[in-house]
Amino acid sequence: MDQTTNLPATLIELHQTMKACRLCLQEGYEIYPPAVFSGPASARFMTIGQAPGITEQQAERPFNAGSGKRLFNWLAQAGIEEDWFRGTQYMTSVTKCYPGRQTSGSGDRVPSRREQALCRVFLDQEIELVNPLVIIPIGRLAINLFYPRKKVLREIIGTQQKIAGRWIIPLPHSSGASRWHQLKENRLLIDRAISLIREHWNEIFPP
Ligand code: SF4
Repeated sequence: MDQTTNLPATLIELHQTMKACRLCLQEGYEIYPPAVFSGPASARFMTIGQAPGITEQQAERPFNAGSGKRLFNWLAQAGIEEDWFRGTQYMTSVTKCYPGRQTSGSGDRVPSRREQALCRVFLDQEIELVNPLVIIPIGRLAINLFYPRKKVLREIIGTQQKIAGRWIIPLPHSSGASRWHQLKENRLLIDRAISLIREHWNEIFPP
């Protein structure tokens, strides 16, 4: 498939294309398709994680395990109910297939720059077709799409910026393997981010 000239025109077609995609495998990367994502074209919020883990890949559901539990605990503080969010909002990731374990065996492999580049065209198309008002990038890989790499998380979490008419409100990686969100001094920054999410949520979906 020529990704640059033959992109699907509807979200349903894009989903079919992403599920069938094996580009990273064809380039020799050890990934485990199919692509994992969820949500309708009518979503107003979009979360972007790093890549699915093994339980997400098996269940074909984003943020399915521990990282999802923590994420939805944070979103619950913003008044957002998990089932409703999952059913009405859009959830995706920088790369959409499970990348497998690190060779050291400790944790999942971080997708390479090349895999991120291969999958980027799908993410751009998801954003274009869903047209969300608020994007929540979760974790460094997703945050790097919107913020300079040299900026540390402490300068980013708890802030928002508007890009191309959409609010970007970053959150740290919510997995148990990440220590950042576990540090007491960072909790205040996460609370600020949750408050920003709550403000936009209540404006878009008035209580
Ligand atoms: S990670 Fe993305 S580009 Fe790579 S095979 Fe999966 S859907 Fe295709």
